[in-house]
Amino acid sequence: MPAVEVDRLVVRYGNLVAVDGLSFDADPGEVVALLGPNGAGKTTTVETLEGFRRADGGSVRVLDLDPWSDHTRLTARVGVLLQRGGIYPIMNTERAVRLFAAYYENPLPADELIDLVGLRSVARTPYKRLSGGEQQRLALALAIIGRPRVVFLDEPTAGVDPAGRIAVRNIVAGLRNDGVCVIITSHELDEVQRLADRVVIIDHGRVVAAGRQGEIQGGSEELRFAAQPGLETGELSVRLGTHVSEGPPGEYLIPVPPVPALVAELTAWLAEHDLQLGDLRAGRQRLEDVFLRLTAPVVDEPTDEVSALAPSSSKQQGRGGTARR
Ligand code: ADP
Repeated sequence: MPAVEVDRLVVRYGNLVAVDGLSFDADPGEVVALLGPNGAGKTTTVETLEGFRRADGGSVRVLDLDPWSDHTRLTARVGVLLQRGGIYPIMNTERAVRLFAAYYENPLPADELIDLVGLRSVARTPYKRLSGGEQQRLALALAIIGRPRVVFLDEPTAGVDPAGRIAVRNIVAGLRNDGVCVIITSHELDEVQRLADRVVIIDHGRVVAAGRQGEIQGGSEELRFAAQPGLETGELSVRLGTHVSEGPPGEYLIPVPPVPALVAELTAWLAEHDLQLGDLRAGRQRLEDVFLRLTAPVVDEPTDEVSALAPSSSKQQGRGGTARR
């Protein structure tokens, strides 16, 4: 049974339909990222799953309970990481952890948790004196202290330094191993690519694409490289037998599988022209590119090219492969 089920959820604010028939689910031991541009309906969806908002249509279930009517029963089994901690500013790390531990029947040992999130050296530091990344790690510790079965993480790596990011990744991996269902909302797509097993992209309150990592990138492979701006892409395209385009100055895309012969031909061409290769990356499309393509704003009178990229009304719901191109 899924740990989280969203079935044709509708949530309105007056006349505004913030969530418009949204469906997805998430299993125990699965990390699912809910992505979308600002105003897509992510927060509203998560708040409904947390039992703070009532569905106007459809249904949501968390651990097979209704988060609205069974809110009290769910509270002890669900962990929530809020973007702004909700911690007394003068309370130190250790006291905050011990205070929150007291709310639960069977909390994680406070000292273990402080070590796990890497806050030992600031255990006596008041919350308001912690860096942004340390505050975030403390909030994460408090979200998981009660051994929740479902955890909602809103922007878990926002403002977190590289060491903190590794700590966050390890914690999420540990939760997954323990069979906890983790729902992440984030705008940091490279981080999401590392953390999440499955991605649900929403826009205007609907799912526009959903799938496992790799699957959602459509399986199509490409080769990207960096070199000096303004290369003769026409000449290179002829040489490689495929279209080469320059995106941001100095960044080039070859949208075909990066077979070794293609890479050899590219480097030979660069060598013949005495050009330096800055960066070479082969593989699937980046999640960020997929996201931007799927959530591109609709223009009034789309050209053929733009209408092929902009969100359409025939959007696929729920899990499975990518919705459209
Ligand atoms: P996201 O988290 O993806 O940025 P939200 O769920 O916050 O999206 O918002 C979805 C839509 O609902 C937006 O158009 C937003 O302006 C609107 N909205 C969110 N909260 C409220 C509210 N309390 N009252 C009225 N409109 C709201």
